Amino acid sequence: MNAAVLSYSLTQPVSRFLGSPKELLIDGEWVPAASGKTFPVYDPATGRVSAEVAEGDREDIGRAVKAARRAFESGPWPALRPAERGKIIWRIGDAILEHLDELAELESLDNGKPVSVAKAADVPLAADMFHYMAGWATKRHGITIPLSILYTPGVRYHAYTVPEPVGVVGQIIPWNFPLLMAAWKLAPALAMGCTVVLKVAEETPLSALRLGELLIEIGLPKGVVNIVTGFGETAGAALAAHPGVDKVAFTGSTEVGRLIVRAAANDLKKVSLELGGKSPNIILKDADLDVAIPGAASAIFFNHGQCCCAGSRLYAEEPVFDRVVEGVAEAAKKIKLGPGLDPKTEMGPMVSEIQRNRVCGYLESGLAEGARAVTGGSARAGAGYFVEPTVLVDTQAGMKVVQEEIFGPVVTAMPFEALDDRLIERANDTIYGLAAGVWTRDLSKAHTLAARLKSGTVWVNCYNVFDAALPFGGYKQSGWGREMGEAVLEHYTETKAVTIRL
Ligand code: NAP
Ligand code: MG
Repeated sequence: MNAAVLSYSLTQPVSRFLGSPKELLIDGEWVPAASGKTFPVYDPATGRVSAEVAEGDREDIGRAVKAARRAFESGPWPALRPAERGKIIWRIGDAILEHLDELAELESLDNGKPVSVAKAADVPLAADMFHYMAGWATKRHGITIPLSILYTPGVRYHAYTVPEPVGVVGQIIPWNFPLLMAAWKLAPALAMGCTVVLKVAEETPLSALRLGELLIEIGLPKGVVNIVTGFGETAGAALAAHPGVDKVAFTGSTEVGRLIVRAAANDLKKVSLELGGKSPNIILKDADLDVAIPGAASAIFFNHGQCCCAGSRLYAEEPVFDRVVEGVAEAAKKIKLGPGLDPKTEMGPMVSEIQRNRVCGYLESGLAEGARAVTGGSARAGAGYFVEPTVLVDTQAGMKVVQEEIFGPVVTAMPFEALDDRLIERANDTIYGLAAGVWTRDLSKAHTLAARLKSGTVWVNCYNVFDAALPFGGYKQSGWGREMGEAVLEHYTETKAVTIRL
C-alpha cells in the first residue's frame, strides 16, 4: 500500500524507503525470496499495510549461510586488521546517528512506539552499541600461561591463548526494539570477526532493512551481514538448525528459546538466549516515593510493557502500598495513547493484533481469577491495537497474571509486610530471573536485596538503565549468557590454547 494513505504524513526519506522493494540482503545484494513470496507488514496504529517484504524461507537461509561462510573462510573480514574492523563498526554507529530521525520514524511506524522514544532511546542506544563494540575489536586478546607440567625433566613450554571468531553466527531477534536488538546482536559478532545471518521479526523488519542499506553504503564486505526477513517457524527454524551455522544467538520468548535449543542440539552448535522475564519491582517504606512511584510506572509502561525486563510485579511495603498503587494508577491514567508517529503520543499500540489479543487474554484471566483493575483493564475500541495501561490489585501468587510474562502495559501490585525471607521468596517465585528493581534509602536493605534477588540485573532507585558496557541477561529460564559489555564477547569467540615445547 502507498504511504500516502496513512493517516499521518511520513517524511520523504521514509516514503522513499517504503516505496522501494523490501528484499533479502544476501552476499551484499538485495534479492527476492527464492519462492518469490512476500508478506505484508502492518502499521499497528491503524492496522493498515505499510510495506510488502520478501518472505525468506529455508532455501534463502541456505543461500545466506553459504554467503556468510564464504565471507568467513575466504573474505577479508575476520583477517582484517582489528583497527580496520573497529573503524568500520564505528562508522556503522555514526551512520545510525546520521539517520536518527529516519530510523526513529521507521521504528515507530513498524512497532508502534512513540517516535520521541525511538529518537531518545532505540536509535541512540543502537549507535552506542556499535561505538562501544568498535573498541573491543582491538582489545580482545589472549594471555600467556605459565605451565607446571613435567613430562620430561628439563623440558619447558611456552603456552598462550588466542581468542578466535566463532565463525558463522545465526541471530534471531524480536520486535520490541527491532533496531536496538539488531545492534545488540550484530555489533559484538562483527567486533570479534564473525559473519552473520540475521533473521528479523516478521512484525518489524523495516529498520533492519534500512540498516542493511547503510551497511552496503559503508562498505562492509559482501556476505559479512546477511539479513533474511520471513517467519519464525520457517526461516527462523531453518537458521537455528542449519549445519553451516556455528552459533545461534536468540532473543525472544522462553517458549521459542526451548525450540532453538532443540534445533541447535543436532550438531551441538553454541547457543545464547535472552528470553522472557516477570521482574519484581520492590518499593520499601523508606523509599523516596516521589522518585519510586514514577519509576515504578515507567518500569512497566515503558515501551507499552513490551520489554523483557518490564517491572511487571510491583511489591510495595504495607504502610506505603495504597499511596504507591494510587500514584502508579494516576500516572497510568495520564499517559496519552495514540499513534507512535504523533509527537504528542506517550504510549502507542501493541505491536500486533495477536499481541493485543494476548494481553487482553491475560487481563480477562486475571479479572476472572479475582484481580481488580484500579485503572485500565481492557483494549481501546476502534482502529489500532491499543491496550489501556493497567494496574491490577488483589492478585495472588498462583495467578497467571502474576506468573507469566504478559508483555503488555499491565502491572500486578501486591503489598508485603517487611523485608524478610518471605518477601525474597515471593520476589524470586517465577521461572524467570531477568531483572529486578529495589527502591529504598537504606543502603543495607538495598545491598541485601541486590544480593538475594535471583536476576541478571538489579536496579536500585532506578529502572531500565541500559548501557552498552553493562552486561544484561537472565538467571533461570530467562536465558543463557549475557548481552552487551565485555561479557557478550564470550558468545562470539572460541579460545584456542597453544602450547609450544621450547
Ligand atoms: P517469539 O516467537 O519468541 O519471536 C522472537 C523471534 O523468534 C522472532 O524473530 C520470531 O520470528 C522467531 N521465531 C519464532 N518461532 C521460531 C522458531 N520455531 N524457530 C526459530 N525462530 C523462531 O516471540 P513473539 O511470538 O514475537 O512474541 C511472543 C511472546 O514472546 C511475547 O508475548 C512475549 O511474552 C515474548 N517476547 C519476549 C521478548 C524478549 O525480549 N524477551 C521479545 C519478544 C517477545 P517471527 O517474528 O517471524 O515469529
Ligand atoms: Mg511470532
